[in-house]
Amino acid sequence: QFPLGRRLPCDIYWHGVSFHDNDIFSGQVNKFPGMTEMVRKITLSRAVRTMQDLFPLEYNFYPRSWILPEEFPLFVAEVRMMKEGDPSWKPTFIVKPDGGCQGDGIYLIKDPSDIRLVGNIQSRPAVVQEYICKPLLVDKLKFDIRLYVLLKSLEPLEIYIAKDGLSRFCTEPYQEPTLKNLHQVFMHLTNYSLNIHSGNFIHSDSVNTGSKRTFSSILCRLSSRGADVKKLWSDIISLVIKTIIALTPELKVYYQSDIPAGKPGPTCFQILGFDILLMKNLKPMLLEVNANPSMRIEHEQERSPGVFENVPSPVDEEVKVAVIRDTLRLVDPQKKKRKDTQFLIIKHFFMCYRCQTLEHVSEELNKELLEAGPSDRADYDTTKSPEAALPSLCLKQVFPKYAKQFNYLRLVDRVAALFIRFLGVKGTTKLGPTGFRTFIRNCKLSNSNFSMASVDILYIDITRRWNSVGIDHKESGMCLQAFVEAFFCLAQKKYKSLPLHEQVALLIDFCEYHLAALDEKRLVCGRG
Ligand code: ADP
Repeated sequence: QFPLGRRLPCDIYWHGVSFHDNDIFSGQVNKFPGMTEMVRKITLSRAVRTMQDLFPLEYNFYPRSWILPEEFPLFVAEVRMMKEGDPSWKPTFIVKPDGGCQGDGIYLIKDPSDIRLVGNIQSRPAVVQEYICKPLLVDKLKFDIRLYVLLKSLEPLEIYIAKDGLSRFCTEPYQEPTLKNLHQVFMHLTNYSLNIHSGNFIHSDSVNTGSKRTFSSILCRLSSRGADVKKLWSDIISLVIKTIIALTPELKVYYQSDIPAGKPGPTCFQILGFDILLMKNLKPMLLEVNANPSMRIEHEQERSPGVFENVPSPVDEEVKVAVIRDTLRLVDPQKKKRKDTQFLIIKHFFMCYRCQTLEHVSEELNKELLEAGPSDRADYDTTKSPEAALPSLCLKQVFPKYAKQFNYLRLVDRVAALFIRFLGVKGTTKLGPTGFRTFIRNCKLSNSNFSMASVDILYIDITRRWNSVGIDHKESGMCLQAFVEAFFCLAQKKYKSLPLHEQVALLIDFCEYHLAALDEKRLVCGRG
């Protein structure tokens, strides 16, 4: 639309894939810098692992995972040890290539020796994960849940979850994995993109039958069987908040690098797709997070052999239209000083989505008005409150609403704040040796037992190891994960024999105290 470049800044920038525009100086962008990198299988597994080290019980919603190739020996050793401890344990593992999607390259194995090491494993890093053998079945089929989550802001943290999601079904009745059925993808993998090719795939116009259904229809069914659906929702909310808490520290590093504080820049929000598997006992397990979830509301259908056409998908429409509509309402830049026209724009957007063509808009709106009862009709009076004319919000705020229950988990966030403070030059994501030394000195962490020479050795050791496994080789220096590891080492050294999360919390308090004192001193000197 703007072949010669934009002339006027926009309120909202809606990017297709990732944050990639460096000349936006205001408004809001629908992607966070670094999100695509953060939700890759390896990075997500690492971020969750750090949280599991601190809070093992709180983070038991993610299957035990190992990163290949670097942790292959550890994987072999740990599996052997667990098998020796419990000879009745007959595990299955799932191998997932890093950066893969739609089930691409995924396979199941019974033993570490079955990992396909053909070719250069280094060229295709992967995550190997314990396979959840006893998923909840509906109609004898395995299914997973796609939930939409809006990360509205990183600082302060604001998270919304959509009240309804999608349930995506396998197309072959489920059996627990055996050597014979391991390769049957239609039985074990719930990906829509795979199952659509099965002859058993059912496109349904109803939201509670077929191979793709609404999550609410599953909840209704579970509730009628006596399941505690409220508890399930609260477990899901907790899983989502904890996962985002695991991602935020590194996201903040990316954020300050792309949008440095104090310079004009946009704010960001992002719709994320959470893939969750329910275990037989209704415990939700996180499979993965998608930074660019499909928002399609149609699917392809073969009308006659070889002739495909796009047809509306009522299930996708029911769930996704509401997510987009509510996201726009929540990030609405003019919320406070809105004009009537804005209501029309949002309504138009929403209608176009539903009806595909503009001509249907007024017709559709009239129909809604007729269907609405007398009291509802008053809500459509746009001169009163345009917001009231839209259906009630499907996106529910969960953070800061439940912040009190989860804030104690945000330790790595505070470590990241220390890291960012010492990064120095704007635009970098890695800490140089001088920055690390300044951190140690300003926080008063070196003493007779821990000399500056030991500080340098710690820096070199950890940085070298992380840089040999990291994906980002562009910049040299210490990445956030390496700094977090060094910080944990320092905490263990200083506060022996306490649980790790207490050691880390004490060291953060200690550093923050000394930095605040330093800032105070500088302020007084400055005034002087
Ligand atoms: P992709 O990004 O390629 O879709 P996923 O991690 O979502 O990769 O895995 C694909 C599918 O494999 C999931 O939708 C799920 O059905 C199945 N799956 C993944 N991890 C596990 C696991 N640990 N246990 C059981 N099933 C899993």
